Amino acid sequence: MRIAQRLIDEMVAHAREDLPNECCGMVAGSDGEATRVYPARNAEASPFRYAIHPQDQIRIMGEIEGRGEEIAAIYHSHTNTPADPSQTDINLAENWPDPVYLICSLADPDDPTVRGFAIRDGNVNEVELDVA
Ligand SMILES: [Zn+2]
Repeated sequence: MRIAQRLIDEMVAHAREDLPNECCGMVAGSDGEATRVYPARNAEASPFRYAIHPQDQIRIMGEIEGRGEEIAAIYHSHTNTPADPSQTDINLAENWPDPVYLICSLADPDDPTVRGFAIRDGNVNEVELDVA
């Protein structure tokens, strides 16, 4: 998945803003390239889990469709743990297997990490991020 550094920076900024809770949102894309970051509210408002707020999800999906783009990724942050999907993340992805799952880890606050994963039927495969 191709993604601009600027979009990664936006996700990291959102992750820092929402501390001590996890942040979440969606990323639009077109032809395998991420185009835009859409921050959402975390309906769980929790340091350990996330759920994209249903109102935000409807609004964001409408905006993405309106631009003729697709939902390329769902992102969330890990405030204190590495950027690996938790069992909670794997379970959550069962309902929605198509997007790439981006995880932004702030475990090292000075060196945030963003990694991407395909999560299908309980299987996790890393998706290489081609950062430009
Ligand atoms: Zn997670």
